[in-house]
Amino acid sequence: MTPSNTCIFCRIVDGSIPATIVAENSHAVAFRDLHPQAPVHVLVIPRRHLDSLDAGRDEPELLGAVLALAAEVARKEQIADTGYRVVTNIGADGGQTVGHLHLHVLGGRSFAWPPG
Ligand code: 5GP
Ligand code: ZN
Repeated sequence: MTPSNTCIFCRIVDGSIPATIVAENSHAVAFRDLHPQAPVHVLVIPRRHLDSLDAGRDEPELLGAVLALAAEVARKEQIADTGYRVVTNIGADGGQTVGHLHLHVLGGRSFAWPPG
């Protein structure tokens, strides 16, 4: 099976799993996380399946579009002026649980550093 059959985020892109879409561009889609960890918690993903940031290392245009949409989401969600965090987890040690590249855009509260 292709990722579009098995990957939950591919299914959000094709509309077969519902999600609250907050922004999109030609390369990327942004939607609210099902289990928000902050007042604003949005996931930004490429429309095309990539396993993680590691799989996108030769695709700067696509990664740029994903990152630009994250910044647009922050503006739209009114967290850009107070500050926010953008995180992507990669692989087992990174804590990645869904195998389709996604940026977490988190805001509306302050965050500790270093992360856990
Ligand atoms: P990771 O742990 O891979 O960095 O993040 C995966 C994120 O996807 C988690 O924050 C989790 O809450 C979110 N998530 C998992 N399944 C779904 C889903 O079906 N819909 C939405 N909107 N978010 C999901
Ligand atoms: Zn996918």
